[in-house]
Amino acid sequence: MNDLTQAERYLTEQIRQGSSDAWQQLVDRYQGRLLAFARSRAVNRTDAEDLVQETFLQFLKSLPTFREEASLETWLFMILRRRIVDLLRGKRVTVCTLQDGRPDDDSSGSGSSMQFAAPDPTASTYARRDERLDHERAALTQALAELVNALKESQDFRDLKIIEMLFFGQLRNKDIAPLVQLDEKNIALIKHRWLKQLRQRVADRLKNVDLSAIETDGAADSLLTEIWEEQRLSCPKRSTLGGYLLNTLDPPWHDYVDFHINQLGCRFCRANLEDLKSQSAAAPRVLVDRIMQSTVGFFRK
Ligand SMILES: [Zn+2]
Repeated sequence: MNDLTQAERYLTEQIRQGSSDAWQQLVDRYQGRLLAFARSRAVNRTDAEDLVQETFLQFLKSLPTFREEASLETWLFMILRRRIVDLLRGKRVTVCTLQDGRPDDDSSGSGSSMQFAAPDPTASTYARRDERLDHERAALTQALAELVNALKESQDFRDLKIIEMLFFGQLRNKDIAPLVQLDEKNIALIKHRWLKQLRQRVADRLKNVDLSAIETDGAADSLLTEIWEEQRLSCPKRSTLGGYLLNTLDPPWHDYVDFHINQLGCRFCRANLEDLKSQSAAAPRVLVDRIMQSTVGFFRK
């Protein structure tokens, strides 16, 4: 789970207190991967730079309500994705390339594609919500995170890939089956098994919570997807991506990261990887300077 690290918490605190040095650090650190993400959505360079600049502005504006549940990177990605949805006027903005080939893929913004609309991080996803719902959601998030960690620790990458495709990629059983050389029934069984585990874990934490929503094959998955995207539960850490680039990961991990990036096609991690690859190249100062200029008002009170 990509939650806020100690260092990020410190950086955020410094920014809240008005440190423009801390802000500069944050902009330097994240602008490359954000730009790569925007560009991956076939947004031209000028628009992509505008979106990244707006993302940083929005980040500053929303800092007072930032709940520190996700990493800064994930939070910034969410704001940016929302901006891209706005720019593309409701066109589906998928987070995994594997979703793109789905037969019911349409860009009209209607029907089943609605569930792919990016959550608005400043309205519903991150802002403070109803306390009881928060509580239930937190339990579900925790349970999901535990489940993913358990799968990683036991190196059960087959099942991790499957539930990743189910909940992160929102693929259907029949689309997943050929990708892992299993039949549809096996996928259904695996899904059933992990949902049962998930319910058990949540029930251990909370009483009287109606989890019927995650038992069916449709609506529920979008809640799990929302949480998955919000927390980027299965995304490898940046250091792991670095290891992948340098070919230093253990073979099972290498295979899994390769799947996540190339088959599932997680766009967040792809953007990260691209940024890592271009780290040695000169940083695009022009964009950084623009962002710093447009946000200077926040630090000159
Ligand atoms: Zn990822």
